[in-house]
Amino acid sequence: MTTAVPFLDLKAQYLTIKDEIGEALEAVLESTAFVLGPAVDAFEAEFARYAGVEHCVAVNSGTSALQLALLAGGIGRGDEVIIPAMTFIATAAAVEYTGARPVLVDIDPHTYTIDPELVEAAITEHTKAIIAVHLYGNPAEMDPLLEIARRYDLLVIEDAAQAHGAEYNGRRCGSLGDVAAFSFYPGKNLGAYGEGGAVTTNRSDVADRIRMLRDWGQKEKYHHEVIGYNFRMDGFQGAVLGVKMKHIESWTELRRSAASLYDELLGDSAELTIPTQRPNTRHVYHIYPVLVENRDAVKSELQTRGIATGIHYPCAIHLQACFKGMLQNGTDFPVASGLADRELSLPMYPELTASQSEIVCTGLRSVLPACVV
Ligand SMILES: *Cc1c(COP(=O)(O)O)cnc(C)c1O
Repeated sequence: MTTAVPFLDLKAQYLTIKDEIGEALEAVLESTAFVLGPAVDAFEAEFARYAGVEHCVAVNSGTSALQLALLAGGIGRGDEVIIPAMTFIATAAAVEYTGARPVLVDIDPHTYTIDPELVEAAITEHTKAIIAVHLYGNPAEMDPLLEIARRYDLLVIEDAAQAHGAEYNGRRCGSLGDVAAFSFYPGKNLGAYGEGGAVTTNRSDVADRIRMLRDWGQKEKYHHEVIGYNFRMDGFQGAVLGVKMKHIESWTELRRSAASLYDELLGDSAELTIPTQRPNTRHVYHIYPVLVENRDAVKSELQTRGIATGIHYPCAIHLQACFKGMLQNGTDFPVASGLADRELSLPMYPELTASQSEIVCTGLRSVLPACVV
């Protein structure tokens, strides 16, 4: 029996920061600042600096961050928002929450992010924004998207939920468009110990609007300018994230080293497609995706060997039951569908050891001949 390798190991990371976390949570308890408060303020300042922007507004989830980014951009009923056909459901759901309609565009077969060459054909008189998703921690191809957005006067929103610290042409994801949404769901590259998210932007009008919207639409207590939301971050999450900011860069480098080792151990396999990192980008490997035929068989063979894997995601947006074909418009999205059929996510977290990575690669290579014909 080989050693088990989990897909994710949140406990391993917790053990490395246990004392700092304990002290930070204790301070919140003593302060009784349970919602927003000094720990959240300090985290916002730190995260804005990290993302290379003027403003960070912390909220209760990445989904709320997306929703508020759209609302602050004036998106609503009757509008269309272009999104990639392969992403987590939240990207599409957040558009729906505003009353606008998501319009899908297929992804690029190498970057797995929205294909800029297909965007222009999806633009109509109702199009107001493009959401670029930095899927798996790999930056979307932003320059052509920004150029199209300038020409058609569209807002560019980054879904950076998987891309903390990722870079494109030397600039951090979260600073590349008009406004960006981050998630701090526990398994993300920067994970809270509960739900959390944030909006980043250089636009002070957008930041002010989002601060108001996350807190019941009030600027002054009990004077509500607009119907807002209860989307505030809680104090414990601010404290946990504040501690983790001290480690995010070293954890990101550990992910990148683990990815390099996978590249080295799997790169010459004819049956696998490994992820590519373009030279002008810093990929932060939220996910290490390989493409393989008969993915489900490979996955279950690995599972019997004690190697856990994931699938991100098994169903493209246009095929999700909740949308019942309503986003398809007679179009197919073959690259997104192909990714859904073949993608397999290997174990990936900063604490993954070299010997664990070797077990994963040896296991994977040994099951391929029987699974891939
Ligand atoms: C996780 C994720 C979200 C949603 O974030 P939550 O904090 O879970 O609400 C949105 N988009 C993408 C691409 C994600 O991976």
